[in-house]
Amino acid sequence: MPVNLLDLDAEHLARFVAEMGEKPFRAKQLMKWIHQHGESDFAAMTDIAKSFRQKLAEQAVITIPGMLAEQVASDGTHKWLLDVGAANGVEAVFIPEDDRGTLCVSSQVGCALECSFCSTARQGFNRNLSTGEIIGQLWWANHRLSAEAARLGDAVNESGRAVSNVVMMGMGEPLANYDNVVAALRLMLDDNAYGLSRRRVTLSTSGLVPAIDRLREDCPVALAISLHAPNDHIRDQIVPINRKYPLKVLLAACLRYLEKAPRDFITFEYIMLAGINDQPEHARELAQLVRDVPCKFNLIPFNPFPDSGYNRSGRDAILVFRDILIDAGYVVTVRKVRGDDIDAACGQLAGKVQDRTRRKEKAAAGIQNINFVGREKHA
Ligand code: SAH
Repeated sequence: MPVNLLDLDAEHLARFVAEMGEKPFRAKQLMKWIHQHGESDFAAMTDIAKSFRQKLAEQAVITIPGMLAEQVASDGTHKWLLDVGAANGVEAVFIPEDDRGTLCVSSQVGCALECSFCSTARQGFNRNLSTGEIIGQLWWANHRLSAEAARLGDAVNESGRAVSNVVMMGMGEPLANYDNVVAALRLMLDDNAYGLSRRRVTLSTSGLVPAIDRLREDCPVALAISLHAPNDHIRDQIVPINRKYPLKVLLAACLRYLEKAPRDFITFEYIMLAGINDQPEHARELAQLVRDVPCKFNLIPFNPFPDSGYNRSGRDAILVFRDILIDAGYVVTVRKVRGDDIDAACGQLAGKVQDRTRRKEKAAAGIQNINFVGREKHA
């Protein structure tokens, strides 16, 4: 089987090139061709010796995942559905803002964690994405956005359409696909590939503590934690991995991470679920819970999907919650809903996954059994 060069970070590509008897700078040239020029045909790599190009064509390929669909929302959000084989697709979402353009990247086909409010979880877990399939999302986004910019004129680029930030917040739990995700992160940071700074690459995790510690040593990018609850009682129900790594253990890992982190704070994501975790007493408990961790809060209004069983917190409840945290001295942002007319909002990424675990049926049955105080009925 020929090696797919899209799967290799700088270190692995250098090793591959060395094994072919070539000098290390050839690896850098290759990286630039693949990731910066978006070239997948060795014959077009004109500054590489013809003999080496021929050898490459025999032993390697550059396989970019195919694109099944592209949708553009009224607010400029783009969503791409990438073909990952066996009738599966994963989604990547680009969110343009005034001063930046953020690409939300998927790490797995489906997800094995069973967060009760997440549409990806309903599909069950299919498989990990390869490094090439993860970095391929950034490859495609750059490719499509630059084609669009060329069509519409350069002004588009200045208004933030190019990818300046990456968040690993798409489908899947990135730390459950550790090796492939870290190799992809290294490509995002590599100057010969995408050259993003560590602060502009954020990994979001539901809280796989041992992997948080590994990431701190291997590739400390900005860290976001899907906290979502002010105590173990609630978090055990909605983010079940909490039963394995409870809040005390998770917050201790956050403090250890900050010793190496590129930012001096952790972002805590907190989904606003009506009647579940959005009451003023929850905000006060939350403010106490994380008082020792330098952090910022990002409140995410729940994005509904069919049969979720949850409702989004009302605007007033979100503002009261936010103000309690602000009064306690925290920096708080409330995530704007983007791209919801194309189902591209946070937590709505469903891709196209064949559920081998029948998770959907199980979840629909199981969700009735969880009793939350003050829970609103799903309309
Ligand atoms: N598995 C990783 C990254 C995936 S999701 C993690 O758990 O962090 C990125 C964020 O979207 C997480 O904070 C996740 O909890 C949140 N999310 C999931 N479903 C959502 C929904 N329906 N509405 C709003 N946010 C959701």
